[in-house]
Parts: sequence; C-alpha cells; structure tokens
Amino acid sequence: MNAYLNGQFLPLADAKVSVLDRGFVFGDGVYEVVPVYSKKPFRLDDHLRRLQGSLDGIRLTNPHALEAWRDLVLQLVAQQDYPDQSIYIQVTRGTPAEGQPLRDHPFPKAGTPTVFLFAQPLLTASAAQKAAGVCAVTAVDNRWLRCNIKAISLLANLLLRQQAVEADCAEAVMLRDGFLTEGAASNIFVVKDSVLLAPPPSNLMLTGITYDVVLELAAAHGIPHAVRAISEAELRAADEIWMTSSTKEIMPIVRLDGVAVGAGVPGPLAQRMDGLYQAFKQEVMRA
Ligand code: PMP
Repeated sequence: MNAYLNGQFLPLADAKVSVLDRGFVFGDGVYEVVPVYSKKPFRLDDHLRRLQGSLDGIRLTNPHALEAWRDLVLQLVAQQDYPDQSIYIQVTRGTPAEGQPLRDHPFPKAGTPTVFLFAQPLLTASAAQKAAGVCAVTAVDNRWLRCNIKAISLLANLLLRQQAVEADCAEAVMLRDGFLTEGAASNIFVVKDSVLLAPPPSNLMLTGITYDVVLELAAAHGIPHAVRAISEAELRAADEIWMTSSTKEIMPIVRLDGVAVGAGVPGPLAQRMDGLYQAFKQEVMRA
C-alpha cells in the first residue's frame, strides 16, 4: 500500500476525506516531506520534531507519540518496493464532529485530526542538473509572519514559485525589508570570499532539515561560515548562491534576475558541500 489515512494503509487512489475537512476548506493543517534513501528515512526524528513544532504552532494536539510516528513511517516505507522514497505526512484539524458548525473559522469543540501519509519515488536533482545549476528570480516575501510553521496553506509560496517558473527559473529567492529570507520551497545560502552565510532561523523562514545538515557539515569540516542577516546587496554581490531542500539537496543558483552569480557557473564551495552531503547520506544509510 502506498498511502495511510486515519489508521489504515490503503492504495493512494482509495484515500478519501470529507470535503468538510478543515484542511480542504481552510488549509488548516501542517505537513512534512521525509526523504528516504535505501529504505532508510533521512533524519526522521528531526522531521518529526519539526512536525511537532508546526502542530504546536497551529495549536493542534499531536495525534501520535514520536514512537508511533516512527512506526507509521517505517511501515509505509517497508511496503514500497523501491529504495529511494519521498514520504509525505499531513495532519489537518479534520472534519468537525456531528453537531458542530460545518464551516466555521474557530476551532471546532470536537473533532478528530486527519492523518494522511503517502509514499512516492524520490526524485532528487541529477548530477547533470547540479553541474549546470539553475536560475532564480528575486521576489518580495509577501507571506505571513509565521513561516516557521510548515503549513499546508501554501498559496503565497505557490504564487511566488509560479512567478519563477514563468521566468523559466527554478526558484523565487525572497527578500523581506531588504533582507534574504528563503526560497519559495527551499532555504538559501550565500558564499562571499569563501565564507558560507546563512540567514538566522526565525519566524520569517522555515528552518530546513537540509539547512541544519549543511551547517553541521560546514562546522565539522572547518568551512568558514556565519549565521547572520544577509542584505539584498550582499545577495546580489555573492560569489555563490545555493538553494537547499530535502529534494533539491544543494543546488547552485547560477543566475539571479538574469545576472550571473559569481562566474555564472556552480562555485567550488557548492561542489564541495554537495560532495560532503552525498558522503554523509552514504554514511547514514550504512549505519
Ligand atoms: N523553506 C521552505 C519554504 C520549504 O518549503 C522547504 C522545503 N520543504 C525548505 C525551506 C527546506 O526544508 P527541508 O530542507 O527540510 O526540505
């Protein structure tokens, strides 16, 4: 079975929820995407901790304890016959219980959260794509002020990403009040004079699991780095810009708003970090 819904493993095509589910009518829910390599979930506990943070952020009681979540994910992974997977996890505030208003903004007094997972093959960027790099556009970060919650209500992110796609680019790099926040679906790193720079985690961005791994690898391998606010001027003067996410891994951005970043090709630090990241993945998979 490639899906799980409210206590049952089932084929994805058979997973159905009520149209009154608050996830459907309000986008009232949160999610996670866990990459799986060789049937081993990558940083599962980190993802589950971030899920807990998102649930706390929307004041929804976690329907499962950590151990139960681990078990659910591992069961779903085991049921797929391909090794590298992407596990999508979504929890919504569910459908209001009998007798509750059908569609009302305040939380229903009674109801059960909807828990939905599905598995699909993991599509990471190919070596050729990483070697070519991608282009990005900048955009004003017009999202809400609680971007640290991994909410399913992604309309602002979708509109921003579409802006990038319509400019034949891979990502929208967002700026708020003159400072870099993140990508529409990724975190953004900058390299200047061989120093790796990352914006500090805050309510203005989602701290990626990949973001954490990149900073850990930088620390472990003596790569000079700093976590601090990055101005628009610094972004535009960068030697390298990377986007990172569980599926994009470390992807060099080689053109920003049509202007070459550094030499206009993936930089040496991006290549080094990607090597470290791939090696780290291998180690974890062997463990
Ligand atoms: N920021 C946003 C807005 C995202 O959607 C993502 C991808 N889920 C990330 C950052 C990167 O997170 P991760 O490294 O955990 O995939």
